[in-house]
Amino acid sequence: MIYCYAFRGYEGDLISVEVDIRRGIPSLEVVGLPDSAVREARERVRVALKRGGFELPLERILINLAPAGVKKEGARYDLSMALAILRAGGKLPDPGAPLLVLGELQLDGTVRAVRGVISAVSEAVKRGIRLFIVPPDNLPEALSASEGTVLSLPSLGDLNRVWDSLIRGEGEADREDGYGSGAGEGNPYPDMGDLKGQPLCRRALELAAAGRHNLLLFGPPGCGKTMASRRLPGLLPRLTREESLEVTRLWSQAGTLREGTGLISWPPFRMPHHSASLQGMVGGSSSVSPGEISLAHRGVLFLDETPEFQMPILQGLREPVENGTVRITRAGKSFWFPADFQLVMAANPCPCGNLGRESSSCICTSREIERYWRKIGGALMDRIDMRVPLKQVSPEDLLGREEEGSGLIRKRVNTAREIQKERHRKEDFLWNARITVSRLPDLCPLDEGARKAFTAGIGKLGLSFRASHSILRVARTAADLDISEIIGEEHILEALQYRRYGDRDIFWGKL
Ligand SMILES: [Zn+2]
Repeated sequence: MIYCYAFRGYEGDLISVEVDIRRGIPSLEVVGLPDSAVREARERVRVALKRGGFELPLERILINLAPAGVKKEGARYDLSMALAILRAGGKLPDPGAPLLVLGELQLDGTVRAVRGVISAVSEAVKRGIRLFIVPPDNLPEALSASEGTVLSLPSLGDLNRVWDSLIRGEGEADREDGYGSGAGEGNPYPDMGDLKGQPLCRRALELAAAGRHNLLLFGPPGCGKTMASRRLPGLLPRLTREESLEVTRLWSQAGTLREGTGLISWPPFRMPHHSASLQGMVGGSSSVSPGEISLAHRGVLFLDETPEFQMPILQGLREPVENGTVRITRAGKSFWFPADFQLVMAANPCPCGNLGRESSSCICTSREIERYWRKIGGALMDRIDMRVPLKQVSPEDLLGREEEGSGLIRKRVNTAREIQKERHRKEDFLWNARITVSRLPDLCPLDEGARKAFTAGIGKLGLSFRASHSILRVARTAADLDISEIIGEEHILEALQYRRYGDRDIFWGKL
């Protein structure tokens, strides 16, 4: 039996391609809820087979895509239908086992790449399928997720050769999927050495990377918020193989994976524009498409000029920030995608951007400033452990001495991450940013000085419960970077300075 694949969010269904050939007026029919694209596929299949040197049987051909209840979209069924017809007509010998076929056909018989090859291959492997035919451009992806015999088919003209290899069990020899290759070793992100004159921000990035804390960077335009954010993913540990498969699967499904590349092995960085649509952000123009927040899975989602994003988008971020997944309902059907990202928001201090600048003055009323900040929304702000004010960098700072590079910082981050993995091995969370409220007292032991600083700080800044939890989590990370089991006064004091802004009436203007 030949199989293809239909998406249902992150998951999906194998579709069996059944062909019945019987005597009658020559025709080609497709049943099983095909949309218009599948109907058009009939014509493509007919012409492509002919140009590839095969004759369509002059009989009644009926193709059934099962199960019928699953919606099938796009041109991804072309190749599987063509091969199923040839099999049923006796033009290809029996491969002896179920076979997954992916690919779109061009009229000249060339096989074009399709989205979501990892999803399809992973699902097929789960169901015991061990034979695969895929487009050449999707081969590295297919190899990364498969077990068994994988073959790429450049064109229908190559079919007899490829089918022979399939029967003999001779798959593509190259099992290199890009994860362990040299290309994946070098850190692809810009270096921290260039981020000068911003000691507070540099330290905040290190803490955020180590404990996976969400960040807000705010300051006048041109103070380096974007520059700083771009350097965060370069401080994070490389993805594990399992994480790498998840990320590549999502990118492949969205069609953002460059063709012919293998696994994505570094945490992704996504920077959607504030004009992005709700669907573009959270996903789901169809069950095929993950949004920006899922493309940032296991990496960093950076929202520049956060208050300019549509309100429903910012509200829609709350659930994924909390659970690491996003659930979407379309036309009565519900599906989900992973979206476990680290959130970095950037904002100007006020609508005009001049607040706190020495060279120019702000023209905003305090009401306008308040409204501007309120757009982010208290529920989302609550989940931001660290809020970092950035100042304009002076020319002297820019010419100043070389700062520490990403490599050394990453080493400390990695150590702190290992400490967390070990300490949290029996918990249902891994990183400090996710320590649950009930586990905070046990996992965050304070010494005497820390206890005093904590109580005094909370009182002085008038902080909420949620804010005090954030402070403990960030202090935990600061202690982990110091390789200290007990949290000291200096760790609490450091955490406090990142929580001074953004709660209730604390006025952003007074930086
Ligand atoms: Zn202003």
